[in-house]
Amino acid sequence: MRYGFAIDQRTCIGCHACTVACKTEHEVPVGQFRTWVKYVDKGTFPNSTREFGVLRCNHCTDAPCVTICPTGALFTRDDGIVDFDSDRCIGCKSCMQGCPYDALYIDEDTHTAAKCNFCAHRIDQDLEPACVVVCPTHSIWVGDLEDPGSGISRLVSGNAVTVRAPEQGTGPNVFYLGADRAVLDPLVAPVDRSYVFSSPDPQRLDVAADLAVDPVTRSHTTLNTAHPRPWGWRVTAYLWAKGVGGGAVLVAALAVLLGVDLGVLVTLVAPALGVAGTAATGVLLVRDLKRPERFYYLLTKSNVRSWLVKGAYALAAFAAVSGIWLLLGIGVETGVIGSARTAFTVLAVIGVPTGAMVAGYTAFLFGQAEGRDLWQSPLLFWHLIVQAVMVGAGALGVAALAAGTAADGLRLIAACLTVATVLHVLMLLGEYGGRHATRHATVAAHMVLRGRYARQFWGSVAVAGAAAVLAAVGWATSVLALLALAGLAVQVALLIYESVFVRAGQDVPLS
Ligand code: SF4
Repeated sequence: MRYGFAIDQRTCIGCHACTVACKTEHEVPVGQFRTWVKYVDKGTFPNSTREFGVLRCNHCTDAPCVTICPTGALFTRDDGIVDFDSDRCIGCKSCMQGCPYDALYIDEDTHTAAKCNFCAHRIDQDLEPACVVVCPTHSIWVGDLEDPGSGISRLVSGNAVTVRAPEQGTGPNVFYLGADRAVLDPLVAPVDRSYVFSSPDPQRLDVAADLAVDPVTRSHTTLNTAHPRPWGWRVTAYLWAKGVGGGAVLVAALAVLLGVDLGVLVTLVAPALGVAGTAATGVLLVRDLKRPERFYYLLTKSNVRSWLVKGAYALAAFAAVSGIWLLLGIGVETGVIGSARTAFTVLAVIGVPTGAMVAGYTAFLFGQAEGRDLWQSPLLFWHLIVQAVMVGAGALGVAALAAGTAADGLRLIAACLTVATVLHVLMLLGEYGGRHATRHATVAAHMVLRGRYARQFWGSVAVAGAAAVLAAVGWATSVLALLALAGLAVQVALLIYESVFVRAGQDVPLS
């Protein structure tokens, strides 16, 4: 059994009855929507037309929101309906990143994720969804798509139908008849100031400047819902914080394995950065939840397919390694423990994979955010590790000012910093300068290279480039101040870049 909708835009009159019935049935707060009617105007008055599109959750066969949800709050029923359980939701907003259709929102009353759930409570009583019942032109059809005798199956098989963003491979189960492409494709009709009934949200308006307008149809969206970015500065800061911690431990592990003496940078500073970076990451992640008091559901109601859950395990493992390393270092530095060379070697061997995982796991989490094509780079895991080594070595370079590190140690830190920073810049240029697999990624890359984020992006590249030069000169001359300056500069460069990366990925409209 596979329940689905068919929406006949040939007969839809754009009356919003479905929207109102849905809001009433589910007590949806003002300004939030489980289903809504999008308007697109084409042409120039008097030779203009208005197209309607009824948008909602597609009850995808392969639903990315279900995969990414860390607590199983989103789930697929046996009848194909993608439903949700507010009592399990922690408000992490990852489903909003996974959904390529802007179907989800955070309910401002419950602070949990919500969307069209097919009126599952009505379906269970053999009733049709509220929107189907209220539609005055019978434009919304519902039923079992796997039953060839059902009305919806006959409608879908006997007519030309389209779905939203089929290239995402999610298997949408909302089929449109007679829908104009400009309504279903969010990149075809940017907003302008000609909205009806309301004003476009500022984000859509800003982003529209980076979208091309069709010179023939001059399609523009005149009514839609607002979809602000789910993730903000806390995610930027979290990427940086765990990068510093993971990278510092990676560089310290390298020093231990190569037999290079970094003194207290290895015994105390690197593991302390590992502990602090993990703690800061944890605080930022929990504070970013809309239901922070439920954070432990990550462990007690885990969906182990979600990289939010796997990431929590990676953070815990890394925190344990860093904590043991720090305790050992304190013991050595205070003279409580004698030589601990073997123990440090063991910790270094474990520290390499755990440090790499804590730095890089976000690539897999972002990979599950299927609505954000900019984040789907196959190089992201390696780039995050390079970034971690860059800021981790940079932090150690700053700490070396006070640590009295030997020349060999300084050279190792400078080498790591130089190589990682050069690689970071080259990977940025390669990732953004090359061709992109999808139009969404192309639009996001355009915003970064030449659009609304160009100043910040090129500024971060310039700062990173200057840091690489300073670190290289510091490497050649062993001038500590140059190394420390480069170490500070890479922190600034990465924070600016991550802010651009996080925002641009979410700015491309999905509805
Ligand atoms: Fe609905 Fe979006 Fe989940 Fe697909 S990914 S089932 S459209 S919420």
